[in-house]
Formats: sequence, C-alpha cells, structure tokens
Amino acid sequence: MSSTRTVAEGVTAPSSPTSQGSIRIRQVSHRYGRGGAAVTAVGPLDLDVPPGEFLVLVGASGCGKSTLLRLIAGFETATQGSIEVSGTAPAPGRTAGMVFQQPRLFPWQTVGGNVDLALKYAGVRRDQRPAQREELLRRVGLDDTAHRRIWEISGGQQQRVAIARALAAEHALLLLDEPFAALDALTRERLQDDLRRVGTESGRTAVFVTHSADEAVFLGSRIVVLSKRPGQIALDLPVDLPRTGVDADELRAAPEFAALRREVGLAVKSAAA
Ligand code: ADP
Ligand code: MG
Repeated sequence: MSSTRTVAEGVTAPSSPTSQGSIRIRQVSHRYGRGGAAVTAVGPLDLDVPPGEFLVLVGASGCGKSTLLRLIAGFETATQGSIEVSGTAPAPGRTAGMVFQQPRLFPWQTVGGNVDLALKYAGVRRDQRPAQREELLRRVGLDDTAHRRIWEISGGQQQRVAIARALAAEHALLLLDEPFAALDALTRERLQDDLRRVGTESGRTAVFVTHSADEAVFLGSRIVVLSKRPGQIALDLPVDLPRTGVDADELRAAPEFAALRREVGLAVKSAAA
C-alpha cells in the first residue's frame, strides 16, 4: 500500500504502518431479512483490536459470531454502524485471509498446487512461488507433502493447507471461523499448538471464532465473549499467559490456565442464558 498519497490528492487517507491489521468497529449491528421475517444477528457493538492481537470470539451457537467475522471480512455490509480494518472499509478478498471449518481446498490439486494458486492470486511472481510455497508449508508443519493430492491427506493436514493458503496472501489480518471444530481432539491440540506459534511469529492480527473456552484461553491474547443473539459483548478479557518460550502442554496444565478457562466457561454459559 502506498503511504505517499494524501487526502488532498483525492484518495482515502493512508493508514499509518502501525495501523496495519487494526480493526475499529463502531455501533455495528446486522440484520438479515426484512419486515416480520427480519433477524438481528449481532450488535450493536463497539470493538477496537490493535495490530498483532490474537482475539478469540466465543459464544453459543447462533449468537452471531460468523456474521461478525463476515462483516469484518467485507462479505456482508453492516445494516448499521461502521467497520474499518487498517483504517479503511473492508472489501472481500482484500482485507483478510480466511480459514473456515471446512478447508475448502481444490481437491484435484496437490498440496503445493493449492498454495501456489493462493500465491498467484496474491500477485507473487511465478519464479518466487516455489520458495514461498516451501516456507509456508514449513510454517504449518507440512514439509515434504507438497506433491501429495488433497484427497490423500488427513482432515488435520487439509486444515494446515488452508492455513498456509490464508497466510500466502500476506494480509495483516487473519479471520478463522471454527477451523478446528471438525477435527479429533489430538489433531486439534497439535493444530492449536502450531497456530499459536504461527500467530505469534507472524505478528499478524487474528480473529478466531470458537465455542470452546479451552481453545479460547490457549490461543487468545484477548477473549471476547458474546451474549446470545443478537450478539453483544458480555466479557472482554485480556489473557496474560506467556506466548513464547513455553511448552504448550505445560501451559495447558498451569493453574492460571485452568482459572481462565473456568472464568470464560462460566461467562459463556451465563451469556447464553
Ligand atoms: P454463529 O456463527 O454464532 O453460530 P451466525 O452468525 O451464523 O451465528 O448466525 C446468527 C443468526 O443469524 C442466526 O440466528 C442465524 O440463523 C442467522 N443468519 C445467519 N446467516 C443468515 C443468512 N444468510 N440469512 C438469514 N439469517 C441468517
Ligand atoms: Mg458460525
């Protein structure tokens, strides 16, 4: 993004480099449908997310978590209020890398082919793609699988490819909508371990949706609990657990971890009541 243009030249104000990946939400609510069939899914709510934060949104099924994520991504336009990401209005495909519950890969392609397509779409030159592809696959723990077909690898590995693909676009913001919900418990823990590391290393902002208090405390640098529909902020909690130099299993076993998990679990329950 150019930082030399000015408002006077007739373009939107450049966001300062420090605002890259920031989210600013003001009095946002979103309604589906009209008249008697209208459903207000979320809001009104205000939320500020600084660059580099790993925010986890927790709440009961149907409280509007996916709606909020789609609003931030620019897939939906809020019926009220305003959203800015990195200082500008969100636009689909340009604002954030996304990971969904289902990996949504091209099944007939190889692992490497799927990442290549994402790099190509992100405008990376063809001769630079192989090195970047290898680096991305290494970061998500998929070295030596570039040649394999999507249908030959496990669900957990497919979700790793989806994360690599979301990282390929180099957006300052990653949005993840219950990406590990369909995985078995052990695979889920290993992916959580790696995502926590990748999130910290990459310095990107992340908004991760889950309804697991355990997952929220493990991954988040901050947790926001939403009330039942229309989702509003019921709890906004910083997580002061170490993010580097700590063993994942030790962290899960720590008393501070258990205390936070309990606090978030209770908040989710009472917010849903
Ligand atoms: P969550 O992700 O927390 O489970 P959603 O954001 O998917 O919740 O949905 C919130 C509410 O909005 C639900 O009542 C859901 O049925 C409704 N909803 C979601 N998407 C649509 C849509 N495209 N059209 C109509 N209603 C929708
Ligand atoms: Mg959802």
